Amino acid sequence: METLVKRDYYDVLGIDRNADDSAIKQAYRRLAIKYHPDRNPGDKQAVERMKELNEAYAVLSDPQKRQRYDAYGHSGLQGYTAEDIFGGVDFGSIFREFGLRNIFSDFGFGFGSGRSIFDDFFGSSATRVKELESRKGVDLECELEIELEEAFSGTEKKINLPRTEVCPSCRGTGAARGGISTCKDCGGTGQIVREQRSGYSVFRQITTCRRCRGEGRMITTPCHKCQGKGTIEIERDITVQIPKGADTGHVIKVKGEGGAGSGRGEAGDLYIKLRIKEHPIFERRKSDIYVKKEITVIQALLGGKVYGVPGLEGDIVIQIPEGTEDGTIIKVPGQGMPKFEDERGDEHVVIKVTLPKNLNQEERALLYQFGRLRMLNLDPLYLCQPCPGFPELPSPDKANNQDKKKEKQK
Ligand SMILES: [Zn+2]
Ligand SMILES: [Zn+2]
Repeated sequence: METLVKRDYYDVLGIDRNADDSAIKQAYRRLAIKYHPDRNPGDKQAVERMKELNEAYAVLSDPQKRQRYDAYGHSGLQGYTAEDIFGGVDFGSIFREFGLRNIFSDFGFGFGSGRSIFDDFFGSSATRVKELESRKGVDLECELEIELEEAFSGTEKKINLPRTEVCPSCRGTGAARGGISTCKDCGGTGQIVREQRSGYSVFRQITTCRRCRGEGRMITTPCHKCQGKGTIEIERDITVQIPKGADTGHVIKVKGEGGAGSGRGEAGDLYIKLRIKEHPIFERRKSDIYVKKEITVIQALLGGKVYGVPGLEGDIVIQIPEGTEDGTIIKVPGQGMPKFEDERGDEHVVIKVTLPKNLNQEERALLYQFGRLRMLNLDPLYLCQPCPGFPELPSPDKANNQDKKKEKQK
């Protein structure tokens, strides 16, 4: 991997910042002879040094580029292409002086043959550095809705996830090979500097170049694969394991299913946020579930077994005490959602007492009798007509007398 930290050009050439043109040239010659590939056959480090030297010399020997470098450092040259930097330097004549081959022709290419080749050789332009940088891909997040039953038993779910990946063809630059050129408006700096004089003061206003949006470069030929976007959309099926007892808000991490990494960076991760769908019968509260069960007033009065209570694994039977009030909650331990290994929450049955409607005469008579037994002062109008075959009931007057007798006894 190439070093991402660039050395200071003056350090590279071993000169001080006030060095004049001839001192720069002298320093370059001295070091170029030392590290020229001809003098160091097979030495990769020498090649690297040579690249560094060429770049430093190309910048510092050009008054305009040197000024930019002095003012802004390496970032001041970020918008320059390799052609911009090396195009104006006659390396050939320098090397001829020493009887050495011009290393550019040595590598089989000349100026103007496309910046990609320069990048490969110099490994120094801004995009090159960007591409080499290894970054982890972005983490993705999505939401997955599952049924309560699925959360109860645990399951495997397949999700189809569209995701954006860095275009493999242009590695995210959005440009076809050699399809990037320096912005003409800002000369590759990405900034527009305006000077305004007002009396004795000069205002310097620096704005981002609108044409290239501060990039310093423009895409002249967009990448055919991504149409210049730099990213492509792909779809893939991902299998997710839903653990038993999963609940709304739980997050499942799927390693390596996020966005693709750049360079040698690993892919990001996918975070799946679960949401349990509302169930028509059960209401979940953490590992407990709540269910409503309607019983008749007779069941409520008598108590006993109540059949057909919905449970997560089919209907269950519960026991209610005599005189169960409406709204009573009967707890059924261990019938809730899974908690830990082999452990479950509870089921809570909320009793709803219903009253029978549209009573027939026989039912009315029985209830009336029940009322009399309970010494209730009932309106005889509740009992319309005696039912055929039904024992005669005591008259309301008699019942009233009985009530009075009881009061007297007290
Ligand atoms: Zn592309
Ligand atoms: Zn521009």
